[in-house]
Amino acid sequence: MSTPAYAAIEAKAALTPWTIERRAPGAHEVQIEIRYCGVCHSDIHQARAEWGGGIFPMVPGHEIVGEVGAVGSAVTKFKPGDRVGVGCFVDSCRECSACKEGEEQFCSSGMTATYNSLERGTQQPTYGGYSTRIVVNEDYVLRVPDSIPLDRAAPLLCAGITTYSPLRHFGVKAGDRVAVVGLGGLGHMGVKIAHAMGARVTVLSTSPSKRDDALKLGADDFAATSDKATFKKLAGQFDFILDTVAAAHDYNAYLGLLKRDGTMILVGMPDQPTPLSAGPLIMGRRRLVGSLIGGIRETQEMLDFCAEHDVASDIELISIDKINEAYERMIKGDVRYRFVIDCATF
Ligand code: NAP
Ligand code: ZN
Ligand code: ZN
Repeated sequence: MSTPAYAAIEAKAALTPWTIERRAPGAHEVQIEIRYCGVCHSDIHQARAEWGGGIFPMVPGHEIVGEVGAVGSAVTKFKPGDRVGVGCFVDSCRECSACKEGEEQFCSSGMTATYNSLERGTQQPTYGGYSTRIVVNEDYVLRVPDSIPLDRAAPLLCAGITTYSPLRHFGVKAGDRVAVVGLGGLGHMGVKIAHAMGARVTVLSTSPSKRDDALKLGADDFAATSDKATFKKLAGQFDFILDTVAAAHDYNAYLGLLKRDGTMILVGMPDQPTPLSAGPLIMGRRRLVGSLIGGIRETQEMLDFCAEHDVASDIELISIDKINEAYERMIKGDVRYRFVIDCATF
């Protein structure tokens, strides 16, 4: 099926209209009519080959929501018309310990990413959600609860699970003090989800103009990181720090804000390394950890949690021809708080 899409034809090129072929659904596959796709900073990193290489032409997009259009003969979990989502991966080996434990993102032979990856078997490139249709094995498709508006659900498929998963895994509980660094797509979901878990949330941001928004999103406090006094005033205060920043910055300064035995979680993935001192970790037995999206089972759990707690993304809906502008604005930190592509505009 000939399907309209937008692609970076080569690394760093502006995105332009392009046509891809989507196969008819196989026995276990679901064909999804894509309604909306969120724009993640990882799309920018990959379209610009900032993480080294990439498969081009590249059709980014891994915050996909839509309706089931057709299903293969053996599909049991979905039927045409169902509201569904697809996140950052569309397949994995299903046999390694990570896959068996529902942590498919850590598949020992590598997850098959929704785009910028090669399909298992055929070795064809995968193409993501900046398009109008996708075909995915039913085991890698999520159900979007009815109460979440579809456009505001799209960012949950990456920004939502990427922040939910480590907050759960590392045991954030009611009353904990959580700092969220960077108020962009991931950051604003981190604020909403940590708040819904009962934590006391502080936003640490380079943009003082985001203060009022931060409080509306559910934060209890806001501090500007451009103000050096912030790092003195908040020293030793937090049980957790969730760092969502997309550009290189000084982790050491933030580690000093943790309590004894506190945990700083990196989810932002800058293209440049940052020097790390042992001191702030040793003094206070602090932990610096990372986290990668979340597995299928946990992603469904996150969607259901968001429905239960009335959590959805704050979005700016764009037509696909505004995608390059959206990238430029995200790089400047000018996003409130996730761009979502209206796929009716292809
Ligand atoms: P985003 O919407 O562009 O938000 C990033 C935020 O970081 C900005 O809004 C800004 O917030 C802050 N920031 C940007 N440049 C900064 C700088 N030079 N110094 C300090 N703060 C800066 O990006 P996103 O989509 O949330 O993604 C964030 C990062 O997470 C990216 O690196 C992305 O690749 C990564 N990611 C990781 C995973 C995972 O599984 N680990 C999943 C998805 C995305 P303020 O204006 O508040 O400072
Ligand atoms: Zn993402
Ligand atoms: Zn596996």
